[in-house]
Parts: sequence; structure tokens; C-alpha cells
Amino acid sequence: MSVDVAWALDWVRRSAEVVAEHRDELVELDRQIGDGDHGENLDRGFRAVVVKLDALDEPPATVGDVLKLVATTLMSTVGGAAGPLYGTAYLRAAKATGVAELDSAGVVAMIEAALEGIVARGKAGVGEKTMVDAWTPAAEAAAAAASGGASPAQVLAAAATAAASGAESTVPLVATKGRASYLGERSQGHLDPGSRSTQLLLEQAAAAAS
Ligand code: ADP
Ligand code: MG
Repeated sequence: MSVDVAWALDWVRRSAEVVAEHRDELVELDRQIGDGDHGENLDRGFRAVVVKLDALDEPPATVGDVLKLVATTLMSTVGGAAGPLYGTAYLRAAKATGVAELDSAGVVAMIEAALEGIVARGKAGVGEKTMVDAWTPAAEAAAAAASGGASPAQVLAAAATAAASGAESTVPLVATKGRASYLGERSQGHLDPGSRSTQLLLEQAAAAAS
């Protein structure tokens, strides 16, 4: 399937479904090393996104239009760290995707822009036990797949697989950014909730293109 506006709309609706399905899991992960609101925050945000999509008068013209709607809605409805972080990620991704359809390089640019937004906002690097640990390998795998001649859908699949490994890689890490850093070494042995939600969202991006 092409990675176009219909794909973007499907990705967003799938994201809302998967976040609702995994709401309690994300709450539990955040309860272990944070304040337990990550699942609620994201679920509220994506529900609001779907309400806005349903109310659109005419279909969005570009992938970026869809991602911008997600960005502004998450920024205004999701609290905590994740609202501004994901809001910035989708906003930067939107700016990189002002076209009706993405080729493989366009998919890479979208993912790299999202990562850059998160890093610009949260100032975390790899290994600090945040969503950056899922987004960074996702962006790297996407770029590697595209330079190897992968289709846009294959690039998304590579990103999703790498995000899953990246999320898993946060388990032994000590958090040095965000609320989990207050726990110091006691944050070890737990999966970072934001890296898990990143994995879920990128898996839906791939699923919507397959
Ligand atoms: P809060 O921590 O304010 O309660 P959430 O629970 O919604 O916000 O989100 C927590 C997630 O945000 C963490 O699991 C982590 O992945 C991500 N996060 C927190 N701080 C940063 C940061 N500085 N950079 C990148 N991601 C971060
Ligand atoms: Mg929290």
C-alpha cells in the first residue's frame, strides 16, 4: 500500500485503538518508574485526535496535514512530559511531510524529524531510558533500509522492528532524564513507558502500510 494521506489517517486511527488497548499496560509501566499517568495521558490525547478527524469537513491534502492535527491535539490534551514531546515529534514530522504521498526517503525524513523534535524538546540522548531509545534505532533502521532499496512500507516495518528492540533495551538502563530519573538505580529492571508507546505507534505505522 502507498504511504499517503489515506495511510496517515489509518495510522492515526490505529494508533488510537492500540493506545486504548494498551492503556493499562502503559499505566502500569509508568506506575513502576513514574507517576502512572502515561497510558491515561496518551489515551486521552488520541481519543481527542479521533474526534477531530471525525469532524473534518474535507479530507486533508497532505500527510503533514494529518500529522499536524495530531501534533496540535496532543499538545493541548496530553499533560506531563509525553504531551509536549510527542506534540513536537508530530509537528516536526508534519513539517517534513507536506506532500500527498511519501517515498522511502520521505518516510525516513518523517521519522528523523520526529526524533529531532523529541531531542530538541527533551535533551535526552541514547541510553538515558526514554523514548529516544526507541526512536533513535527506528530512525537508523529506516535510513539503512531506504538506502538498501526498501519500499516505503518496508522502511516503516524496519523502523517498527528496531523500535521494539530499542524499547526492550531500556530495561537494564538507569534513567537519567524525566521523572524516572528520581529513582536513580531503582529505575533499572523496568521498561520505559515512553519507549513502549513509541514502539506501539511505529508498529501501527507499519501495519497501516502493509
Ligand atoms: P510524566 O513523566 O510527566 O508523567 P508521561 O508519563 O506521560 O509524563 O511520559 C513519560 C515518558 O516520557 C517516559 O517514559 C519517557 O519515555 C519520556 N520522557 C520523559 N522525559 C523525557 C526526555 N527528557 N526526553 C525524552 N523522553 C522523555
Ligand atoms: Mg507519567
